[in-house]
Amino acid sequence: MWQRVVIIGVGLIGGSIARAIKKNALSRVVIGCGRDKEQLQLAQDLGVIDAFDQEIAHAVRAADLVIIAVPVGVMPAVFSALATVKDLHAVITDVGSVKGSVLAAAQAAFGALPPRFVAGHPIAGTEKSGVEASFADLFVNRCAILTPTAQTDPQALMAVAKLWRDLGAEVVEMEATHHDEVLAATSHLPHVLAYTLVDTLAKMDERREIFRFAAGGFRDFTRIASSDPTMWRDICIANREAIIAMIERYQEELETLKNNIARSAQADIEQQFTRAKQARDRFMKNFI
Ligand code: NAP
Repeated sequence: MWQRVVIIGVGLIGGSIARAIKKNALSRVVIGCGRDKEQLQLAQDLGVIDAFDQEIAHAVRAADLVIIAVPVGVMPAVFSALATVKDLHAVITDVGSVKGSVLAAAQAAFGALPPRFVAGHPIAGTEKSGVEASFADLFVNRCAILTPTAQTDPQALMAVAKLWRDLGAEVVEMEATHHDEVLAATSHLPHVLAYTLVDTLAKMDERREIFRFAAGGFRDFTRIASSDPTMWRDICIANREAIIAMIERYQEELETLKNNIARSAQADIEQQFTRAKQARDRFMKNFI
C-alpha cells in the first residue's frame, strides 16, 4: 500500500486515478496539487482527494508516489519544480498523451532522467475535462502504456505497472518514439480531423442550416472535437513530427478518393470503403 500519493493536476485523468486509488484502498492518503484552489477544494468536497497543497515542492515531500496529470505543455514547469526538491525519494509517473517530449522535459529539468521516473499513458479518456467528469472505473479493461528507458529503475517500473493493474488496466511497455507514432495515428490524427471538420463547417455561410441537418454520423465523427483545446494544442505541438507525417499520409488518401469521385470510379471507391468497413468491423468486434 502507498503511504502518500500526490496527484499534480486533479482533472479528468488525475481525478479518476485518485478516485480509483481510494476505491481500491491503494494509499493511506491522496493529496491533490494544482493551480486552481477552487477546483482543488471541489475535488476534496467530492471526496476525490483527502487534502490539497498548491505548492508542488511542499506537497511532494514525504510522498512515495507522485502522479503528474497536467496538460503536456505544463509538464516542463512541473518537472522543474520537482527538480528543486531535495531528498525526493518518490516514484514519479505521468499520464501525458505524448511520451518523447515528456521524457525530454524530465531530462532537461533534472539534468538526467531520474531512475524512479516511469513515463506512462493510459489509453482511456472522454471528451470531457475537469474533476467533475472523473470516475473511478475509467481505466477498467483499458490499456496503460509505459515507456521505460535504460535508466528506469526496475522496481519503480514494477510499482507503476502494479498501480495500473490495480486500477483495472492492462499494462503494455513500448519505446517512447513508437508510442508517439502509434498514438499519432490512432488518437491524434482523429482529433485533428474532428476539429478541422467542425471548424470548416462552422466557417461556412450556411452553417445554421448545416448544423440543423447534422445527424448521427456528424455526432459520431465529431464527438472528440468537444475535447479541451489547450490539451490538444499541447499534444499537437509536442508530437508534431509524427502528427504531420500522419496528416500527409491522410492527405494522400483523401486526394486519391477525391480523384476517384471526380472520375466516378465506382469500383475504386467501393473497394476503399469496403476495406475500411471490414477493418472497422474487425476492430469493433475485438474492442467490445
Ligand atoms: P483536465 O481534465 O483538463 O485536467 C488537467 C489538470 O491539470 C487540471 O487539474 C488542471 O487544473 C491542471 N492544470 C492545467 N494547467 C495547469 C497549469 N498551468 N498548472 C498547474 N495545473 C494545471 O485534462 P485531462 O484530460 O485530465 O488531461 C490530463 C493529462 O492526461 C494530459 O497530459 C493529457 O494529455 C493526458 N491524457 C488525457 C486523456 C483524455 O482523454 N482526456 C487520456 C489520456 C491521457 P486547473 O483546474 O487549474 O485547470
